[in-house]
Amino acid sequence: MLKIGCHLSASKGYLHMGKEALSIGANTFQFFTRNPRGGAAKDIDEKDVAAFRAFAEENGIGVILAHAPYTLNGCSADPAIREFATRTMADDLRRMEYTPGNLYNFHPGSHVKQGTAAGIDMIAEMLNSILWQDMTTTVLLETMAGKGSEVGGSFEELREIIDRVALQDKLGVCLDTCHVSDAGYDIVNDLDGVLTRFDKVVGLERIRAVHINDSKNPLGSRKDRHEKIGLGTIGTGAIVRLMTHPALRDKPFYLETPNELDGYAREIALLKEKWS
Ligand code: FE
Ligand code: FE
Ligand code: ZN
Repeated sequence: MLKIGCHLSASKGYLHMGKEALSIGANTFQFFTRNPRGGAAKDIDEKDVAAFRAFAEENGIGVILAHAPYTLNGCSADPAIREFATRTMADDLRRMEYTPGNLYNFHPGSHVKQGTAAGIDMIAEMLNSILWQDMTTTVLLETMAGKGSEVGGSFEELREIIDRVALQDKLGVCLDTCHVSDAGYDIVNDLDGVLTRFDKVVGLERIRAVHINDSKNPLGSRKDRHEKIGLGTIGTGAIVRLMTHPALRDKPFYLETPNELDGYAREIALLKEKWS
């Protein structure tokens, strides 16, 4: 069965997101753990979490994907900014244990003139300080567009981060279709080649989630501007081929297209129809 959802607002809690997902034909969803620009997280409402877990169980809502605030930078040159990213992610991961066994995705960061190697070391150092043996969450490194000094725009950089982490079984990758295309991986004309490359460098088993976005910009543009499915340079056909590829078809897919709920509902319906 296709596992598909989209990004939802977390402002009304877990149960609300579960119901909203169901109402648009989704069976999973993504949400920000807190304000995407950082800031304090709301206290966990244990009643809401318990109600959500029962609802998810009853309605077949599978693994859910939490997304870290995208402003966190674990490889900033400023130690205070690195410390903030570390503290925020550590707090998010403790809160994730209220909904055990799910996924937590983050953007590796931007090294800003320090060089990729230094950035990779700092990201790994942060992960080593916040992962613990008995955690049930899998932490995902997102494939990035390679905009500016972003780390994680190549599969090799992701591999190098993973290599430096002690608890590697806690780590996975979230493949973002807009980002990999913008980073120069041709998923439109050479999907098999891209996946073979990923497998060689990182290992396909590391992919635990896929962000499904079209891109406003051409292959290799390093821009990171998401587009609605079918309106960008990737196109519906290539997206459906990716979602039905034997290496990916069982992964959970999350739309992060510029849409309101009704637009998401239409894209989910379209992709479900094409996927079956
Ligand atoms: Fe992201
Ligand atoms: Fe993404
Ligand atoms: Zn993006």
